[in-house]
Amino acid sequence: MKIKSIESFILTDKLKEAFYFSQWEYSERRICIVKITSDTGHVGWGEGYGPAALVKSGIEHLTPYVIGQNPLENETIWSIMYRRTLDFARRGILVSAMSAIDVALWDLKGKILEQPVHLLLGGKKRDKIIPYATGMYYTNCRNLGDKLAKEAEEYARLGYKAMKMKVGLGIREDIEYVAKVRKAIGPDIELMVDSNHAYNLREAVQLSLAIEEYNIGWFEEPISPEYYEQYAELRTKTSIPIAGGECEYTRFGFQTLLKSNSVDIIQPDICATGGLTEAKRIATLASVYGVELVPHTWGTGIAISAALHFVANLDVMPGRLRTPNCLIEYDRTENGLREELTTTDMIAVNGEIKISDKPGLGFELHEDALEKYALKK
Ligand code: MG
Repeated sequence: MKIKSIESFILTDKLKEAFYFSQWEYSERRICIVKITSDTGHVGWGEGYGPAALVKSGIEHLTPYVIGQNPLENETIWSIMYRRTLDFARRGILVSAMSAIDVALWDLKGKILEQPVHLLLGGKKRDKIIPYATGMYYTNCRNLGDKLAKEAEEYARLGYKAMKMKVGLGIREDIEYVAKVRKAIGPDIELMVDSNHAYNLREAVQLSLAIEEYNIGWFEEPISPEYYEQYAELRTKTSIPIAGGECEYTRFGFQTLLKSNSVDIIQPDICATGGLTEAKRIATLASVYGVELVPHTWGTGIAISAALHFVANLDVMPGRLRTPNCLIEYDRTENGLREELTTTDMIAVNGEIKISDKPGLGFELHEDALEKYALKK
């Protein structure tokens, strides 16, 4: 059995309304996905997180090392790709390209063996996962605070048990908006905040202390990801759990984060950090340090499905009769690619997602949507 072809596609969706966060504005969604076909006629799909054109060129660079290999030997293929690139790309976009190929190979392996990926990862440890709604981005509307509160109320009405809002515009505004959102959703829904590394240590401490009273589930990327020691110091100054890691690559990147006691929760992105193969190793490493893991996701149904199978298999420490809820990030911002590209029976109903037992990652890809969104040369 051999891998016959690797094709990659850049997909774009122009947004009806642009939105922004502490770093930049989004006016379109643009993503690179990959299709791997075996000589048996089976197909696997993967996705890379990061600038789509760069991910695509990374996939094209890696293609000669993957063609002709046995698709069932996905871990061996991972090692070949890593060895052939580590001299100049131990982190960054080539690892995202590797991740896209790795995710596609897990999907392909599942399709060939007619088994769901969670089973191939070692087994399903839970049937349901709690998606937390990611939204509450900024738009150029008047009364932004009211808009954010209304959006939060809508997630609560739809049954979400947890949600995450942006902070990072400035401490005074952040405090005002967090207060409004908490008031809108009441005390029982989990609320997290994410500044996308907008602050220095002094500001992050100031904001943390000011919003502690609103019962915040975690403060994500409070500080720029280079400053591991400052993360560790922030943790000693606030009762809010600190989260980070969406910019880390491979188990070696996460080792640095974990060794420096920087975070309470790590957030690897499966489509960036080295795929499902490496994410499983990162989960093992996190369990050694006794640190929680909630994957970062941002993209199409391919990325979300990969994260769902991963969390279905995730080993949670400590064990106890009433296991805590396992969360997955569930982006709710406008994205036609996420809504139309894949079929899935894994959608949020009443704040829960049931894990699919269909082969591979459990979706079919709509070729007409691929055609509609593919960037024409
Ligand atoms: Mg984030």
